[in-house]
Amino acid sequence: MADNMNRIAVLTSGGDAPGMNAAIRAVVRASAYYGMECVGVRRGYQGLITGDFRPLNSLDVSAMSSRGGTMLYTARCNEFLTEAGRQRAMDTMKYNGIDGLVAIGGDGTFRGCLELKKLGCKVVGIPATIDNDISYTDYTIGFDTACNVAIECVDKIRDTMQSHERCSVVEVMGRTSGHIALNVGIAAGATAILVPEKEVDFDEIINNIKDGRLHGRTNFNIIVAEGAASSQEVASRIEQETGVEARVTVLGHVQRGGSPLLRDRIIASEMGVRAVKLLHDGVYGHVICFDGREYTDVELDESILQRRFLDEQALAILDVLKPR
Ligand code: ADP
Repeated sequence: MADNMNRIAVLTSGGDAPGMNAAIRAVVRASAYYGMECVGVRRGYQGLITGDFRPLNSLDVSAMSSRGGTMLYTARCNEFLTEAGRQRAMDTMKYNGIDGLVAIGGDGTFRGCLELKKLGCKVVGIPATIDNDISYTDYTIGFDTACNVAIECVDKIRDTMQSHERCSVVEVMGRTSGHIALNVGIAAGATAILVPEKEVDFDEIINNIKDGRLHGRTNFNIIVAEGAASSQEVASRIEQETGVEARVTVLGHVQRGGSPLLRDRIIASEMGVRAVKLLHDGVYGHVICFDGREYTDVELDESILQRRFLDEQALAILDVLKPR
């Protein structure tokens, strides 16, 4: 075991994601396995500053794998953006005898980790965000469940669109990232997918609908990432230019909720155990990643915090899958 790694803390920060609880559980159970105490920090970096700590034992996290949300709450903390705030967090950890930290969150959370690392904090990061937009890892906790929730909704909406011969315009989450829209759109057989990474081509949407009608299609579904376009505007243009009635549904926070699915539970469990093992082995300032085959870790620095590239080629599949 690394010197002085007897008591570690775990927190969730930024946007919540299904599977965060499974990751907390894994961190707590792995700490016990390696003979370390584990403390839960409530409300992310805010709790790290104020000392909102709660000791966690193996029983405290029983059955947590199946629960959505995060039992430790999450928060966005402006004070942590200041040097004074981060120094307060360091002091609080020292005062409470915290030797290492596992931070579960998205790229903002990791920026916070990077700053803590510069102050000498022994921190390891676990990627959890429904947006799956962190460049260094192909999978983040929560993405799979969020996509599946969205697909279920899109399928249901489609039933009623079919009955009324309408076009649905479904807005999914992803402020600046189109990963949810791309995956949901392909899986649900969308007529068109609008993502922030690519300029919206209204002609293409209109042509897809007109082509579809020529080939006997009577209902259509457009998937819009929230950062790509105004879904209301998209619906209005479709009605004006094709005469097909359009209805907008904004899925919103329903995508963040629900029991995490198999993939997110497994990834969260693997990553949680790996993060604690790193601290136990004396490897700090790293973040865990998964490429679909193996779990590894990389050093946390500015370069890995880039936005994850969207496979725009995958959008081309839509054209091949159109009715002809
Ligand atoms: P996410 O982790 O889901 O991307 P945010 O971007 O809201 O969520 O980040 C979560 C928290 O991380 C912020 O409220 C802030 O306290 C901290 N944080 C974000 N960016 C930085 C930064 N550049 N330096 C220090 N802390 C940061």
